[in-house]
This record gives sequence, structure tokens and C-alpha cells, in this order.
Amino acid sequence: MYGPGDVRVENVPDPTLQQPTDALVRVVRSCVCGSDLHPYHSMPASAEGSPMGHEFIGVVEETGSAVSTVKAGDFVIAPFAFFDNTCEFCREGMTTNCLHGGFFSTAQAEAVRVPQADGTLVKAPVGEDSALLPSLLTLSDVLITGHHAAVTAGVNARTTVTVIGDGAVGLLAVLAAKRLGAEQIVLMGRHKDRTDLGREFGATDLVAERGEEGIAKVRELTGGHGTHTVLECVGHMPAYEQAFGVVRAGGVISRVGVPQYEEAPVGMGTLWGRNITLTGGPGAQRPYIEELLPDVLEGHIEPGKVFDRTVGLDGVPDGYRAMDAREALKVLVQP
Ligand SMILES: [Zn+2]
Repeated sequence: MYGPGDVRVENVPDPTLQQPTDALVRVVRSCVCGSDLHPYHSMPASAEGSPMGHEFIGVVEETGSAVSTVKAGDFVIAPFAFFDNTCEFCREGMTTNCLHGGFFSTAQAEAVRVPQADGTLVKAPVGEDSALLPSLLTLSDVLITGHHAAVTAGVNARTTVTVIGDGAVGLLAVLAAKRLGAEQIVLMGRHKDRTDLGREFGATDLVAERGEEGIAKVRELTGGHGTHTVLECVGHMPAYEQAFGVVRAGGVISRVGVPQYEEAPVGMGTLWGRNITLTGGPGAQRPYIEELLPDVLEGHIEPGKVFDRTVGLDGVPDGYRAMDAREALKVLVQP
């Protein structure tokens, strides 16, 4: 990506092993993320450009001498962060905060160098022709992110839930909340084809209105008080304002949309006065993949339904355009 709206496909040198803990993975599927649209709108134009993409599944081609848990030929899922899975934060399950970790940024490509391969890569017992590939790819980001929103908000059978945002993360936050037992799940989104999928994933109520009108609608659906938990899956300030408008006193807001602001109201009239907890962050926690993978393999959940368009690498620039124009919900890339 060279600047707003400027995505080009280029030949670059193949990645190579650089550390004994590295693996090289041939990408079988990658995709375009809603968060990729933030730089697509606002990155400063640059002559060098930035490689893009942080979601991929693929086949291990080569491993460094210190790698022992994966080998050439293994089919693997890579979360959007890499980590050693052994440091003190990883041992607490907070792998996105690994002391030796980082985030992928070159996955819209034919191959990726994976640092900390033992900690990062999760093997999946499937072939490259598996019908499960789209659902497995959601374990790289959008499903584990939606799940992270639900887990950090404390969603369970006794909590009511509002999900803000009908992008892939919002829809999979609905699926995650349903999976954790929530009985009332209000989805705020205004694209009917998307909210229809949200309904299929478990949303019990749909609210298309935004701002004050949307807040009033959610309150009306919840006895006037809002929901115990709010999963904010957008990242822009109006979504945060909606979040504190619909959260019930004593409730929790979890934000997993990458915030496009540094300052936000948290005082008497918004969070403090009503004892609201604010949580959330990047959700590439390895334990989530291990927990959710069996449900995908056994077909209990079908998160891959969020993909509604497939392109080759040459089609990636148009994939960005289509997602930005809301013509496509989420674009799968098949290199
Ligand atoms: Zn670590």
C-alpha cells in the first residue's frame, strides 16, 4: 500500500529463514481485514509503500534448526501476532503481549517468514483442498477477535449483549456470544445482507439506527437500561459513544475494533458514574485458537460464511476497493 486507495501487487524477494526459531510458510489462503481499511483511508502517501496483510493459513515449507513442533508439509494456522508462548505474558494467555513477539504485516503474499514458529503456529489436520479453509482462516483474526470481545466482556448465559458493527468481527462476535450462552444479542448494523448473517449466527434483535436513535432503540429492547455487555467492533468514536449509550449500569464495554482515536470520554456522565468497565484490545491469544479449532473442525460453527468474495493476488487491489465500497463483506485471497 502506497497511500490512500493505492494498493499494488509487486514481485519482492522470497522470504528466507533468519533465526533458528523461524519457519517459512507458503500461504494457502489470506484475506483483507476491516482494519486494513483504516490505512486504506488515511495512511500518509509513501514512496516505499508498506507490505500488507496479517491473516493467513498455509503449509510449512522450511523450519529453522530450533523449531520442533511443526515441520515441512504441516498445514498451519497463524494468528495475526507471533509469540514464543513461553514468556510470562504468554503463560498467562496474553500472547499478543509476548516479550519476544510482534505482529504480522506481510501476509497478502505467496509466502511469509514466521518468527517464533513453535509458539505461533497451530497445526490443523486438513489438506489444502479442505472445504473448511475459510472457517480455519477466521481463526487467524476475525473469529478469535470476536471471541476476545465476548470473553473480555464476560459474556455468559446470564448477560445480555449488544454488538456494535456488522463487519466480519462484529458478526463473529455475535457467533462467539451465542456460543458462550448469551440469550439476548442485539446487533447494531445497517447493511441488511450482513445483519441477516448476524441473525443466522445468533443475533436476537437488529438495530439499524445509529447515534441517539440507535441508543434509544437498544434501551427500548432491554427494559430501558441497556445490556450488561457491549462488544464494540468498529473502532471509530461514534461506535464508542454508542457503546457507553447502550451499556447497562455496572456493565462492561469491550473494544476490539482498532481505535482510531487516543482520547475518549470516561468520566462521570459516561463510564465512571455508572460503574462501567472498559476493556478489550488485540485478541490473538493462542488459547482461543486451541479452544475454537475443534468446533470448526467438527462443523459446530461456520465462521467462514463471512467470506463473500475470493480473489487471486492480482485481485487484491480490487478486493480493498470492494470492501471499502461495502460491496464485499470480507475478501478471501487465494494466492
Ligand atoms: Zn511470550
